[in-house]
Amino acid sequence: MPYWWRAAPLTELPQTPVAPRSDVVIVGAGYTGLSAAITLARAGRSVQVFDKQKPGEGASSRNGGITSGSLRPNLAQMTTRFGAARALAIQAEAKAAREDLYRFIAAEKIDCDFKLVGRFYGALAPGDYDRMAREADWLGTTLGIEAHAVPRAEQRQFLGTDFYLGGSVRMDIGGLHPAKLHAAMLRLAIEAGAILHGETTVRGITQDGDDYEVVTARGTVHARDVIVSTNGYSDASDRWLRRRLVPVRSRIIATAPISANLMGALMPRRMMCGETRELHYYYRPSPDGTRILFGGRDGTIAGEPDWPTQSLRTALADIFPELGDVEIDHSWYGYVAMNRDMVPRIFSRAGKRYAAGYCGSGVVWARWAGAKAALQVLGDSAGASALDFQAPGYVPLVAGKAWFMPAVFAWMQRKDRATLKQRRRNGIGPAG
Ligand SMILES: Cc1cc2nc3c(=O)[nH]c(=O)nc-3n(C[C@H](O)[C@H](O)[C@H](O)COP(=O)(O)OP(=O)(O)OC[C@H]3O[C@@H](n4cnc5c(N)ncnc54)[C@H](O)[C@@H]3O)c2cc1C
Repeated sequence: MPYWWRAAPLTELPQTPVAPRSDVVIVGAGYTGLSAAITLARAGRSVQVFDKQKPGEGASSRNGGITSGSLRPNLAQMTTRFGAARALAIQAEAKAAREDLYRFIAAEKIDCDFKLVGRFYGALAPGDYDRMAREADWLGTTLGIEAHAVPRAEQRQFLGTDFYLGGSVRMDIGGLHPAKLHAAMLRLAIEAGAILHGETTVRGITQDGDDYEVVTARGTVHARDVIVSTNGYSDASDRWLRRRLVPVRSRIIATAPISANLMGALMPRRMMCGETRELHYYYRPSPDGTRILFGGRDGTIAGEPDWPTQSLRTALADIFPELGDVEIDHSWYGYVAMNRDMVPRIFSRAGKRYAAGYCGSGVVWARWAGAKAALQVLGDSAGASALDFQAPGYVPLVAGKAWFMPAVFAWMQRKDRATLKQRRRNGIGPAG
């Protein structure tokens, strides 16, 4: 069970009849779907949202709660792919999306333990540190984001480890309780008038004149517009989409409570954390500051949780040897959606709108892209986005399974081990 569900259990919704008509149908009740629902219902549209699980049971109540709004390709890679102007527009939109989330939490008085504590990002290799220092400069001068490099000699002011060769800090990223955020968005969507149907699968969507016919497990709906927001949980009801999003398991372990002294030594600034490893890990203190939540790729597509849990535990102890014997109270996983070029996007096919592919950074992006997709349905020019791309390219999945993930995981692991070995040979840093 995700640690988050202790304080914010999933909501069991009463089953209401499926209305045969509504202006908009939304498939998926995570952050994307709920954000779209709030925007549309507040604009006076009739909205029905369907989720095949309980609302939030996908990634939106399981994630690390780090408000990163990250982009996997770095600035240089995005400039090469999309040109300088588009690359800058996407970065600027990431900043706007983060700020918009913080405004939303404040304006709606959402109690989700949000703290803008900043994020430390650790460098695995010497070249990583130099690149991050340049990027921190760029964030400051171009986007006005408070960011700076942290040389290795000063690292312990931010994180109690010698594992990294320095790092960088940016202060525009914080942490929140993801399930509390989701629960509040669910409440706001219902208050705005959206009808939420939990545990009701959408089986298929076909065009019917100017409308769409949406067949669900509990009835058929005709709707003017459809927004598909199934992200890492996309299934055979939309095979076209399922061949374009790669579901990747991300797993988090939560330690048992540790002493305040130890937490103070390991995470003196209580920051969110990430790093430059290929198999990069993300971690943070729990909102009450008593535990460490440590996440990374799971590396499996089926099977028991023991191996991936142990693997995360080992990685945690590599960074913080003091936690070698710590109890692990929770271990859980969920699916994130990657896509071919690793950029989140909003796209259309046959008039249906999709928002997906946040590559593990949907706390900021999903809410933003869901609202943008809704504004596009409303014909509002504010719906224009730097994330408006063509659909992501085809990926050869087998029955929706990323069969190649264990091999990709092993390749990344080998690359990271080689870097660590090189560091050892050069006498820089513990083995890891
Ligand atoms: C372990 C983990 C850690 C993460 N950590 C972070 C983090 O720290 N920071 C960050 O920014 N992001 C993080 N993420 C990513 C983030 O959680 C997601 O990007 C985000 O929640 C996606 O929201 P969504 O609404 O698009 O999709 P989801 O919340 O996954 O919702 C999709 C929903 O679609 C439903 N669905 C699918 N098919 C159908 C169908 N046919 N009919 C009806 N319903 C259907 C599913 O049941 C599901 O509930 C993490 C994800 C995981 C799994």
